[in-house]
Amino acid sequence: MPCQPFREALSARLDDEPLGMPARALDDHLSVCPACAGWADDAAAVTRRARLAPAPAVPDLTAAVLTALPRELPGVAAAARARLLDTALRLALLAVGVAQAGLAWPVLVHGAGAMSAPVHMAHESGAWNLAVGASFLAVAAAPRLAAGALPFLGTLSVLLVPVTVADLSSGHVHPERAAAHLLLLAGVVLVAVVAWRASRGRSGGVVGRRVTA
Ligand SMILES: [Zn+2]
Repeated sequence: MPCQPFREALSARLDDEPLGMPARALDDHLSVCPACAGWADDAAAVTRRARLAPAPAVPDLTAAVLTALPRELPGVAAAARARLLDTALRLALLAVGVAQAGLAWPVLVHGAGAMSAPVHMAHESGAWNLAVGASFLAVAAAPRLAAGALPFLGTLSVLLVPVTVADLSSGHVHPERAAAHLLLLAGVVLVAVVAWRASRGRSGGVVGRRVTA
């Protein structure tokens, strides 16, 4: 029988670990193998010396480590904040889109709220307003569409603001209908912010620099 398994068992016994063989088998081998018996004595002496040696002094770094730790993990917190803001923007856009579609739908279906406009003009503006609401909802559902929606939405709002102001001052539009355009402006601002944040997050940064409003 080779000695190696018994020496491994001896090492295990010195370390208070499972022997991997019956203790009786190990003791039987030690009683008949002087080489292993000598090895066992040497190993026991080495082990005893190692255990009795004073432990090297280890400086207590607890305070230093705790001080060096950042108050909060900045990357994680920033990412969580960004996700929260993205979600808030999309929810706001969802609300604006639903409200915009809610305003447009009765006009489109019944021609109601048309004031003095011909019925078809009312239908047409209803369709436009519904399309604007759909754009808001689409960007809320898929924020990557924001930059693509901006040329249309931005142009519409940039043109609508001065003509609405002019119509208000000359009495060509009821204030409440003009106020409804604030919904459009709010939605366009939200879409622009979503597009801007998406362009910042992209490594190239090529898309999204064309905020029109
Ligand atoms: Zn042996």
